Amino acid sequence: MMPVKVQRVSPSELQIDWNDGHRGRHTTPILRKYCPCAACKTERDVHDGPTLLPIVVPGKNELKSIEQVGSYALQLFWVDGHRTGIYTFDYLRQICECSDCTKYTGE
Ligand SMILES: [Zn+2]
Ligand SMILES: [Zn+2]
Repeated sequence: MMPVKVQRVSPSELQIDWNDGHRGRHTTPILRKYCPCAACKTERDVHDGPTLLPIVVPGKNELKSIEQVGSYALQLFWVDGHRTGIYTFDYLRQICECSDCTKYTGE
């Protein structure tokens, strides 16, 4: 399973066409929220529990560029300088926000 095309359909939205015919949709706040790098994972664990007000950093949810890493992942570069998140293709499919992927979550 690999993306055949990654398209930025709006400043905050990505569309990924996969080689199995799936058309995935991702929004940048969710992509950033689920950033798989070690620092963000730790932050999510720490913040699990009482809800904290999000700290809004300018550019935090803005994508600067996207690069493919080998044949297994995409690396996302954010406007605020964050760039350590390597999103494997499997992971991207797990956090896909298209209507097919989200219809069973009840959200
Ligand atoms: Zn999907
Ligand atoms: Zn991160």
